[in-house]
Amino acid sequence: NEKSLGWNFDNSYVRLSETLYTKQEPTPVQSPRLRTFNKSLSESLGLEIKGDNIEELVPVFSGNKIPEGAEPISQAYAGHQFGHFTMLGDGRAVLLGEQITPEGERLDIQLKGAGQTPYSRGGDGRATLGPMLREYIISEAMHGLGIPTSRSLAVVTTGEMVRRETALPGAVLTRVAASHLRVGTFEYVVRYGSIEELKQLADYAIERHFSDIELGENHYLLLFQEVCRRQASLIAKWQLVGFIHGVMNTDNMTISGETIDYGPCAFMNEFDPATVFSSIDQQGRYAYGNQPAIGQWNLTRLAETLIPLLDEDQDKAVELVKAALNGYADDYNHYWRSGMRAKLGLFNEKEEDKQLIEDLLGLMKEHEADFTNTFRALTLDDFESMDMYNEDKFKSWLKKWQERLSRQSQSSEDIKELMQKNNPSIIPRNHRVEEALEAAVGNDDYSVMNQLLSVLSNPYDYTPEQEEYTKLPEPSTIPYQTYCGT
Ligand code: AMP
Ligand code: MG
Ligand code: MG
Repeated sequence: NEKSLGWNFDNSYVRLSETLYTKQEPTPVQSPRLRTFNKSLSESLGLEIKGDNIEELVPVFSGNKIPEGAEPISQAYAGHQFGHFTMLGDGRAVLLGEQITPEGERLDIQLKGAGQTPYSRGGDGRATLGPMLREYIISEAMHGLGIPTSRSLAVVTTGEMVRRETALPGAVLTRVAASHLRVGTFEYVVRYGSIEELKQLADYAIERHFSDIELGENHYLLLFQEVCRRQASLIAKWQLVGFIHGVMNTDNMTISGETIDYGPCAFMNEFDPATVFSSIDQQGRYAYGNQPAIGQWNLTRLAETLIPLLDEDQDKAVELVKAALNGYADDYNHYWRSGMRAKLGLFNEKEEDKQLIEDLLGLMKEHEADFTNTFRALTLDDFESMDMYNEDKFKSWLKKWQERLSRQSQSSEDIKELMQKNNPSIIPRNHRVEEALEAAVGNDDYSVMNQLLSVLSNPYDYTPEQEEYTKLPEPSTIPYQTYCGT
């Protein structure tokens, strides 16, 4: 039976006010087939996979069978999309429940592409294979990079075609996350719920994600400050590896501090703060260089929802959130600068570091240097491989940097080790991701994707087999573009 597979649900979200969700079973599909499965994640969840009993999970991953203990719902939320408030909700996702892992963690198990819900707004509730595999690859790559993220447990095809611009194979992704609480969940409850429901949601968020914070007098303020701090840390991590989320709407920003919603995201190649890949982001609102500021904009939307809970004196409440939002900016700068110092092998902090970092980024921008490979080359002392190696300005930067390194007490081995830990040798390069998807979706060949996933699971390892994956794509006149919601 299902129990023997290790499902261990406890569904705290359904114990909250029904304003926050609708009971909703997944819509069954014709002929589910497992396409990719995350064995190590399944083990940490406590699922018991032996031999070929993995096939017994396929009905669950497709939504054809509800595992014992699950209480499926779709969650209500709203959000600001490109700056505009909209009512949203899980339009194509069903939360099966919360798996309690052997370690005692509580993790959402969600099916994405599970059929229509009350929040579908005319959409078909379905997802297609390519984008679900893309989310699987990039979310697992982010996990490999050590960046907080939702995880991907499985992708099944449904045996049904989904109508988009053309007919595409349907698929369901099983997503695992610390929770799916979003800034947009708070925006929803403020707009459509009561103050009691807002309090209930805030208390729930504290209990679920911030149970370790010291509960002082104003625990809602502490909640807000901690969400700000986690987002500052998260977005700094994105910036430090060149990750562009692509659609940082408030419904796609978590309370837990995990990255979610892998639609139009992609990694930057040549360093340029204006980099945008998403086809719908015409204004560059979510460009690489804007992400930290957009984080603050989104947190301001969260602040607005919490103000009624922060102080009876609303002017004072506004002052409190303003201070916390300034704290976000300070925290972000701190995380980013210390991350950049680590990328450059600097153990301590000196006045001149700011300039050193800025000068390098300026040269990289000027010479359209590849972000990942530049730091990789610095890590490996492989300066000759860099296009800007013969530039006098770069040579003098190198000299300054090496002088700065030599004034540290750490050995060059220690420095190299620090740099290796902070500069991934490989990232999911867009052309490699596309190549893997083409083989999988086009030719039913998952070997390319599996090989990619395998190297991306240890991006700081600098193994010889990774070298192939550090190569840049052939120059192209067609810019790389990504898409939402397919
Ligand atoms: P996203 O751009 O992924 O953040 O999605 C924005 C909203 O659109 C969310 O409420 C989704 O649930 C909804 N949505 C996306 N695709 C579909 C679909 N095929 N059917 C119904 N709702 C969808
Ligand atoms: Mg979303
Ligand atoms: Mg999405």
